[in-house]
Amino acid sequence: MARLTHKTYPLATGFHGSSRPTPSPELMAKYGYADFKPFSNSADHSDAALLEIAQSIRRDIIRELVEAKSGHSGGPLGSADIFATLYFGGFMRYDVNNPWWEGRDRFVLSAGHMCPVLYATLANAGFFPKSELLTLRKFNSRLQGHPGRDMGLPGIESSTGSLGQGLGIAVGMALADKLVDKNDRRVFSLTGDGEISEGEIWEAAMIAAHWELDNLCMIVDRNNCQIDGRTEDVMKLNPVGDKFKAFNFHVIECNGNSIAELRHAFAEAREVKGRPTCIVAETYMGRGVSFMEDDYRWHGKPPTPEQAEVALTELV
Ligand SMILES: [Mg+2]
Repeated sequence: MARLTHKTYPLATGFHGSSRPTPSPELMAKYGYADFKPFSNSADHSDAALLEIAQSIRRDIIRELVEAKSGHSGGPLGSADIFATLYFGGFMRYDVNNPWWEGRDRFVLSAGHMCPVLYATLANAGFFPKSELLTLRKFNSRLQGHPGRDMGLPGIESSTGSLGQGLGIAVGMALADKLVDKNDRRVFSLTGDGEISEGEIWEAAMIAAHWELDNLCMIVDRNNCQIDGRTEDVMKLNPVGDKFKAFNFHVIECNGNSIAELRHAFAEAREVKGRPTCIVAETYMGRGVSFMEDDYRWHGKPPTPEQAEVALTELV
């Protein structure tokens, strides 16, 4: 058989670092980013303080998206309380001044398209300046529409976005920590609820339970919405908690828009021995913005400038 020949191309260059986009001073002033002081990670934060951080994350999500003119609004806004509690309530070990510190806990965003909330969380913690949030989805930005480990953004542990894969990556990390390196690091991973209709999720769950990965805590953002509609109309998922129980997970069901309930859930997960944990966090997509809340049509679109202005007045 005659073999096909293919053209060769040089690898793309210039994508990493030297010419990152920078927001204008006017934009920085508009959002007050120049004066921002990062929030600390402390078990001493009150519920009210964590809620304040969650709202700060939500405002940044709106700013990211309106400047990008594309991206996902619903899931990021809905899960901001989860991120605020996990990253700022003393449940994750990290050092913003030494982001690749070996003793850190790791977070894998399996639902990669929800990255505006992860980027906003990392910026609010001080992993990188908030100004960089305004470069979301721009060419040469480290904040792409799905997280890229190769972009070198501090705090991004894995490239994700192909739904269903992130949990498997997190399981691999937890396996290496527990069985090979024998350390006490913890691994967290968040999946969308629509995402768990992917078969790979259940393969990863089976492995996590088989190897008794009590250093793994997965969170399902149970907002009952996915890109095409209500999850129960697209692909029935209920009873979600019972499914993970059947896979021998320790299951905690909670209100994912309640800081108090999330705090209890993460504290309980930390004490579990011999099994992985699944927190089924019931949330509202678009939480905090009246015209987006619980509406699946906001899964994957950004606000217009006018809508962003309204949203920012609501998110106080
Ligand atoms: Mg969903």
